[in-house]
Amino acid sequence: MRSISSVKTQYHVSFSPCSAFKLCTIFVLAVYTLAHELYPGKFRPTITHSFIRLLAEKSLLHICFTQNIDTLERRAGVPDHKIIEAHGSFATQKCINCKQPFDGDKMKEHILQKKIARCESCKGYVKPDIVFFGEGVRIVIYD
Ligand SMILES: [Zn+2]
Repeated sequence: MRSISSVKTQYHVSFSPCSAFKLCTIFVLAVYTLAHELYPGKFRPTITHSFIRLLAEKSLLHICFTQNIDTLERRAGVPDHKIIEAHGSFATQKCINCKQPFDGDKMKEHILQKKIARCESCKGYVKPDIVFFGEGVRIVIYD
């Protein structure tokens, strides 16, 4: 793990509150650029996704554990409660400050128009619930 001083040296960044805000803005811009490229709808479920749906319809699917973030399992018709998206997905989003959920249709509109969504409560940035390097993966416990 690199220290903050090595990051400062490599990127010539000073970590004042102002620059921390700029780094946050750069991070959010990167998230939205990625989201625009990967946003669901540009790709279609494969026959394998359909096979997983078929297993669910026949009550043969216990759980679909995926590290994909593209929601193709959902688009194929696999029930939400049968899917664990370990790296999150574009299916939900929330404010990075207060964690308030953000409407999916509004988020889609923002991403497709390359506009950054802001929280309706605290005006913080809204981020799709995808997991980035350095963030913890989702932990789900089932009985
Ligand atoms: Zn908020």
